[in-house]
Amino acid sequence: MTPIQVKVEDKLFQNRYKVDAGRPHIKIKDNEVCRTDCKDRSCTYVCPASCYTAEGNGAVTLITDGCLECGSCRIICSEHSNVEWEYPRGGHGILFKFG
Ligand code: SF4
Ligand code: SF4
Repeated sequence: MTPIQVKVEDKLFQNRYKVDAGRPHIKIKDNEVCRTDCKDRSCTYVCPASCYTAEGNGAVTLITDGCLECGSCRIICSEHSNVEWEYPRGGHGILFKFG
């Protein structure tokens, strides 16, 4: 029997996300720290939902739509403590696995 291969992207597509417009539940405290003090910018490749993006000018942008609330960005940034993290308000955020 041939094994079924499922991509992570396909699994993530089964989730739904309710945006809390104008109230992101995660924030970068000081973008200058990302730009000048953080060499690895680990958040940009550890986030499974690709919420963090390294920009060409050294800045890092964060868009929390699609966040899986895994907490990885908070942990990976512990050296700089530059991520302000909380769960979304009730009724907002990720709704896991539809279909
Ligand atoms: S790991 Fe922290 S300090 Fe580094 S780029 Fe990401 S948010 Fe900024
Ligand atoms: S909590 Fe997880 S999914 Fe959400 S922004 Fe951080 S690393 Fe990405």
